[in-house]
Amino acid sequence: MSVLIAGSLALDTIETPEARIAEAVGGSASFAMVAASFFSPVQLVGVVGEDFPPAHLDFFRSRGIDLQGLQRRPGKTFRWSGKYLPGFSERVTLCTELNVSRDYQPQVPQSFRRPHVVFLANDHPRLQRQVLDQVEKADFVICDTMNLWINTAREELLALLPRVDLLMLNDEEARLFTGQGFLLKAGRQLLAQAGPRAVIIKKGEHGSLLIAKDQIFLAPAFPLEQFKDPTGAGDTFAGALAGALARADGVSPMNLRRAMIYGAVLASFTVEAFSFDRLRSLTAAEIEERFRRLREMVSFD
Ligand code: AMP
Repeated sequence: MSVLIAGSLALDTIETPEARIAEAVGGSASFAMVAASFFSPVQLVGVVGEDFPPAHLDFFRSRGIDLQGLQRRPGKTFRWSGKYLPGFSERVTLCTELNVSRDYQPQVPQSFRRPHVVFLANDHPRLQRQVLDQVEKADFVICDTMNLWINTAREELLALLPRVDLLMLNDEEARLFTGQGFLLKAGRQLLAQAGPRAVIIKKGEHGSLLIAKDQIFLAPAFPLEQFKDPTGAGDTFAGALAGALARADGVSPMNLRRAMIYGAVLASFTVEAFSFDRLRSLTAAEIEERFRRLREMVSFD
């Protein structure tokens, strides 16, 4: 029932229209594994530098996350900084410092090599491939990516995708990757050309769209009155989806849909605070309450 998650662990500096936070714990794997840990046992493969505060690792352990696949290397942790424009209309990356992840070689511990679900969270496609090369057997492989890798490591990403069951990316990235303006066309093109079995295109506050050979599904985002910081929403969505799928009895179309709704629910909590702070105190009852309310909001028959 376990989920293997590989991706970045970062220290993020973020400016929103209302506030700024420096060196907050972030990274694609951090958000994803905390979200997944609400549903199933999680195993992490990643790297941090000497400066990564041990308190964050204690928190991951407190969520039951297995850190045997985490390397601590001499040097600085991956850093990312971004700024949201007024009204959160757009996000600009100000700086990406790879630091210890530049020449890092992921090592998947022997006991992690047969997980139920693998989630390759956003990272260089070379690292994603190196992780997958060490996995002996998995029922379902999910891969996330972003514009930086589509622009700078396109061939490596394309080579990875036939080995992936579900590709996740956001609407802008789907358009960038395919050159298609319409998301359904972009998704169909990715299925036909790149080789994953399914694609999920994330559309921020407008929800997400699953495109597979045999189904299309629209998952709403949970409507919020206000939010603080959308950073990590996509990683949280994907991590919760991976965890919920690992917990389910197989990857049926209905289990995939339900997992997308859990993804939307967890992401709605993440954006209410900086970093994954809201998830620190989150309870299973709060998750189920939003799941129920979301179901109610889309029932019309
Ligand atoms: P999201 O808001 O879902 O795009 O995720 C934001 C998180 O992704 C931040 O915590 C960053 O540290 C991390 N991140 C940003 N750029 C990259 C990158 N190029 N590779 C891996 N992780 C990244």
